[in-house]
Amino acid sequence: MMIIDIRKLNAQKKYFGSMEFDYEAPETLIGIPYVKFASPVKVELEYDLYEDDSLEVKGKISYRLEGQCSRCLKETAQDVEGELDAFFEPKKDSEDYSYTNGVVDLTKAVEDAIMLSLPFGLYCAEECESERYSQ
Ligand SMILES: [Zn+2]
Repeated sequence: MMIIDIRKLNAQKKYFGSMEFDYEAPETLIGIPYVKFASPVKVELEYDLYEDDSLEVKGKISYRLEGQCSRCLKETAQDVEGELDAFFEPKKDSEDYSYTNGVVDLTKAVEDAIMLSLPFGLYCAEECESERYSQ
């Protein structure tokens, strides 16, 4: 579970820090045919906990995609990196991410970051990628 326990951080006076973990992302996030995650998504982040209990999270996600080239169907793989940037507020009706009961669940923020970072296709070579976009 990707959880940051705000009550615990406050109790320990850990108002900033970093975390690193792996996330078994659901394959349904990927919209490219015959492509899947080759490994769990690696999440590296830094957090800042403010006086009003809002939490800022910034970091990086990285993962490897594997499957068939979107053009020639050859087996291939690609390393992808994306930005994680989220701001959580301790209430229900905020515009951004929010949390209740003193615990932040990072799942949605990480899944959003994965979706933003996903390429439109997986290509075995630059040739295949440029051919695809020139059509
Ligand atoms: Zn190809």
